[in-house]
Amino acid sequence: METLTQTTDLLGLDREQLAATLAPILDRPFRVEQIYQALYARAVPDLSGMTDLSKDLRAKLAERFHIGLPEITERRLASDGTCKYLFKLHDGATIEAVDIPDRGRRTFCISSQAGCALACSFCVTGYWGAGRNLTAGEIVGQVLAIRADRGLPMEGLNIVFMGMGEPLHNLSNVKAALDILTEWISPHRITVSTVGILPGLEEMAAWERRPNLAISLHAADDAQRSGIMPINRTWPLADLMAVLRRYPLEKGRKITIEYILIRDLNDSVRDADRLVRLLSGLRAKVNLIPINPDRVLGDRMVPPDDETVDRFQERLRQKGLIATVRRRRGDDVSAACGQLRAFGRDPRGVRARTGAR
Ligand code: SAH
Repeated sequence: METLTQTTDLLGLDREQLAATLAPILDRPFRVEQIYQALYARAVPDLSGMTDLSKDLRAKLAERFHIGLPEITERRLASDGTCKYLFKLHDGATIEAVDIPDRGRRTFCISSQAGCALACSFCVTGYWGAGRNLTAGEIVGQVLAIRADRGLPMEGLNIVFMGMGEPLHNLSNVKAALDILTEWISPHRITVSTVGILPGLEEMAAWERRPNLAISLHAADDAQRSGIMPINRTWPLADLMAVLRRYPLEKGRKITIEYILIRDLNDSVRDADRLVRLLSGLRAKVNLIPINPDRVLGDRMVPPDDETVDRFQERLRQKGLIATVRRRRGDDVSAACGQLRAFGRDPRGVRARTGAR
């Protein structure tokens, strides 16, 4: 471990990069594939665990390389089985990810940035301020670290980029991570969630293997949306909708529209009707999310009562939209969406001397 800072991290490298990086050391080309499989398919946490390589080769590798898995510094298991992880990265930055078992399904919610610059008024990550982009290795590393911790294979997992950060502000690293993950996980089982950064969406539209797309809409009117999501002033609804209408979708696929319901702000029948009009002609399904309140967000950021949620959902359905309501998971460990944050931090990422909770 002492040599960690002097050695090169192998995590995040694709096959070609791995081959080029290891070329000076490897005796046979097929070793690249062995190491690639050990890194990603088997989630081996350190080079000594690559037992299909000779001891000699493992020692030689360890002199120059390491596997930079994020370090688990905290693990909180909720009563519903949801488990929230706090990871520390090599530079001390902290990020969170959540493992969500749900009947036969298993979903990992992972982060793309250590913080977020978007400052949406309902989001705890935004409240804490911007942070750096994660590398491809740090993105894939979250998946591998949880798998290693839980003893899970890559196959069968669902991945959602709904943790900390805006994935389209870190698109090249997200893409590099997806290129690795999609060797084992179908892109149909991966969802990238975004506020709708238009150049990023245009870029994704040109990808050969596209993950599912989820758009954090939250309001169907520019004034309302700009009031809670500053990014709407840069990319207003009409432009966003124009890009979404052109976005290529495979047969049977739909864009997920995320709509956080906030009491007395965007939860009226009139708001529902506006949403129906905005989405008309778009192949979309709506996921309604009663806001998860948090004390840093203030008293106005609270969910509507159940009847209002039902009425909103019913209105969308009557007008022919597919609309579901997202169940809250991991409440007792603050793992609910939008509440991912590092403990013990002050706003804007300044480290507090005493914990913030
Ligand atoms: N930046 C991306 C991905 C991270 S947020 C995005 O905005 O889509 C993932 C989802 O959690 C988004 O739909 C976001 O709007 C939602 N979210 C944020 N804060 C929330 C809160 N307090 N309650 C419920 N959902 C929240």
